[in-house]
Amino acid sequence: MTDRPTLTTTAGSPVPDNQNSWTAGERGPVLLQDYQLIEKLAHQNRERVPERVVHAKGWGAHGTLKITGDISKYTKAKCLQPGAETPMLARFSTVAGEAGAADAERDVRGFALKFYTDEGNWDLVGNNTPVFFVRDPYKFPDFIHTQKRHPKTNMRSPTAMWDFWSLSPESLHQVTILMSDRGLPVDPMHMNGYGSHTFSFWNDAGERYWVKFHFKTQQGHAHYTNEEADQIIGKTRESYQEALFGGIDKGEFPRWTVQVQIMPELDAEKTSYNPFDLTKVWPHSEYPPIDIGVMELNRNAENYFAEIENAAFSPSNIVPGIGYSPDKMLQARVFAYADAHRHRLGTHYETIPVNRPKNEVHHYHRDGQMNVYGGIKTGNPDAYYEPNSVNGPVEQPSAKEPPLRIHGDADRYNHRIGNDDYVQVTALFNLFDDGEKSRLFANIAAAMSGIPQEIADRQLAHFDRVHPDYGAGVRKARETMTGREPAISVTAKTPQQAAE
Ligand code: NDP
Repeated sequence: MTDRPTLTTTAGSPVPDNQNSWTAGERGPVLLQDYQLIEKLAHQNRERVPERVVHAKGWGAHGTLKITGDISKYTKAKCLQPGAETPMLARFSTVAGEAGAADAERDVRGFALKFYTDEGNWDLVGNNTPVFFVRDPYKFPDFIHTQKRHPKTNMRSPTAMWDFWSLSPESLHQVTILMSDRGLPVDPMHMNGYGSHTFSFWNDAGERYWVKFHFKTQQGHAHYTNEEADQIIGKTRESYQEALFGGIDKGEFPRWTVQVQIMPELDAEKTSYNPFDLTKVWPHSEYPPIDIGVMELNRNAENYFAEIENAAFSPSNIVPGIGYSPDKMLQARVFAYADAHRHRLGTHYETIPVNRPKNEVHHYHRDGQMNVYGGIKTGNPDAYYEPNSVNGPVEQPSAKEPPLRIHGDADRYNHRIGNDDYVQVTALFNLFDDGEKSRLFANIAAAMSGIPQEIADRQLAHFDRVHPDYGAGVRKARETMTGREPAISVTAKTPQQAAE
């Protein structure tokens, strides 16, 4: 007799022998009726869900958002009222590397947050940078293709990256951050998070404000140089998981100060930049950050796959008092993230425990794979359509947000016209001290190593426009660096040249 639990099949039947297959004779063969063996092998075959196309490698933990400031005049969101405490989940990630990639690689970091509020899940799916490489979602798949493996060589291609960037000057702001010290944080705790997009707040009076979210690390910023990261990767590929999981395990709970920048609705018509352009920040001097609370991570997942790999964040998840904005990239992500999860995890991915809202969910969606929580969520089996006269769930008009003011005619506007891609990069460059500048130049020179000269020249011209010292610094760093052959050979022509 033993007090250990009985091993069972997935159907609950006791397993008599978990060491030996069921064979005809001692020497085999195995019988097809050995269902325990077949179940074990079949499950192993299905242990992976499709890897995320971007942000595949991630690290996460549970925590709490505590609101201490008062922004009740801007938003009716209950989770943002003074004193509110909301359980939450964070997942950090690199963008380009696959699920097995090393953690300490130079890359943008995802900073995805899910707040389990009383009014439904609110997800803020940001990065550790306030801006992004492209401003029009039409260019997103092209951009990501340049970060992923070349279809023929199956290797990363610096040539493709710089070809795309040099033809897309809107990327310059994010490229500069990526190649600066902040492009390679030592772990998730020592970096900021940014909602990046412009969202909106709205209050009970139906007034709308534009808002940007910031999460400022209380641990301080800490970064690796490329050389330090090479050393780390040589020792461990899991340095972020070790630091985040290990720290929380020891009771070291990382914290971030939560801030918002608020812009009155009509200011959006007056700013010199498009405040809905994801390649731009709102200067702090114009829209000062307001402290509103603290986010703390204090609990590790019990099961990485169930709680971090299965975590499905989507900017479509908002709650009353928070809204979207005209930001084109945000609009596309509102669609694309939920769509990716339906593909990756299944139609009912929001019923996976880590994704389930803490409040009651009532809807009329039906059936489909993994509809495991009782089908139609109306509380009444006869209420499977709407409108109905059997007391099924009905809409809540108070959750309706104010009208979104839209200007202009429908057209395919050239997003490269009328947007200054340099001024804010100059402001950033001017924040760097001499050491940061020289590391920026060296990082770029290393990343450009081996690319065709025409592409390098096209990119250097952008750096020159930011600041003469920027272009000159990168040129000098390139001269002192030994080159290597391009990973692939491409002809560096603009689309116009190629067409001639
Ligand atoms: P500020 O002087 O007020 O700087 C704003 C931000 O710059 C601060 O949040 C600070 O982050 C960040 N910053 C400071 N030093 C560095 C650095 N070495 N590398 C990266 N970021 C740094 O000026 P502006 O608001 O006018 O912004 C100037 C530039 O700063 C922008 O063009 C943008 O590139 C960058 N920036 C701006 C942000 C914004 O929301 N306005 C946010 C982040 C960066 P921290 O407090 O963590 O040190």
